[in-house]
Amino acid sequence: MLLLVNSGGPAAVSEWQDHFAECMPELTVRGWDDPEVDDARVDFVLVWEPTAGRIARMTSLRIVFSAAAGVDHIVSDLSVPAHLPIVRMLTPETTERMSDYVMAACFGIVREFPALHEAQRQRRWNDDLIGIRSSETTVAVLGLGGLGAACAQRLAINGFQVRGWSRTPKTLSGVACFDGDAALDTLLADAHIAVNLLPDTPQTRKMIDAAFLAKLSACASIVNVGRAPQVVLDDVLAALDAGRLRSAWLDVFDKEPLDTGSRLWSHPRVIVTPHVASLPSRRARARQVAQALRDWLKGKPLQHVYDRTLGY
Ligand code: NAP
Repeated sequence: MLLLVNSGGPAAVSEWQDHFAECMPELTVRGWDDPEVDDARVDFVLVWEPTAGRIARMTSLRIVFSAAAGVDHIVSDLSVPAHLPIVRMLTPETTERMSDYVMAACFGIVREFPALHEAQRQRRWNDDLIGIRSSETTVAVLGLGGLGAACAQRLAINGFQVRGWSRTPKTLSGVACFDGDAALDTLLADAHIAVNLLPDTPQTRKMIDAAFLAKLSACASIVNVGRAPQVVLDDVLAALDAGRLRSAWLDVFDKEPLDTGSRLWSHPRVIVTPHVASLPSRRARARQVAQALRDWLKGKPLQHVYDRTLGY
């Protein structure tokens, strides 16, 4: 069985090979640029931004593993055959790292860390910045998939008032769950923090715009760890500048790396992180792929398969 890896570039190939040798020694692992690989003999690929057109040439390919949770970097190549299952990368480490990030952001918001940091930068002793209490803070989590549900529950365990939103109904302990477009106003009404963990689909694109922000509590904050196209950045900046939005914590951007000239870098109430909210280690990802392959070889259905109809 041959797995071709395109994640981390040529320098990462030997590390991938070591991790797979540990958890699935029967698998042959080669790098994407290995000149000796015959594309017609590749069984599986593990990829981030695969070269357009190449997957379509792999005539024996059976499964595409995404090296990340999102698959937009794969399905943007329209030549990828529709019959091929595309498996999203969702490891226990992905969930832990994402909920660590979201917790850090929500605690940073209630404790006013952006304003405190700005005061420090200006050498101002501002002891008015005492923050608000987590127990009096309502967080609306958009998306209750593997990541959104884990974040919502950790926020609830840590004392926040948590609401969650999904397409289909959900039940999560400690979380007031809402579903469907009709419930969006109730979800957002008077919320202090909106955390975006939705996938990028035609329905979610540009969802976080001026009208959305206006439904939140005055001086709310947003945390975007989902996908960039869901947020209308000009509307976010306008709301920040008008004082209607307290802060924006942004981890994903239309163009990555973010342009050095972007206003976001230096805005005092914007936290920019370089798409690091949740990237599991190569070891965790190799183990996830190995387990998925072992289950699949036993005839069990693949988990976390991208649904082309739903778009996530
Ligand atoms: P997922 O399992 O696919 O869950 C998506 C959730 O969004 C589901 O609850 C789904 O509802 C809901 N949803 C989809 N369309 C909706 C709509 N139109 N209205 C209301 N709810 C809708 O996704 P995930 O694995 O949790 O990942 C969430 C996001 O995080 C993705 O965008 C992913 O790319 C991103 N991500 C970012 C990073 C990072 O480092 N920043 C890392 C990993 C993942 P149903 O449950 O009803 O289907």
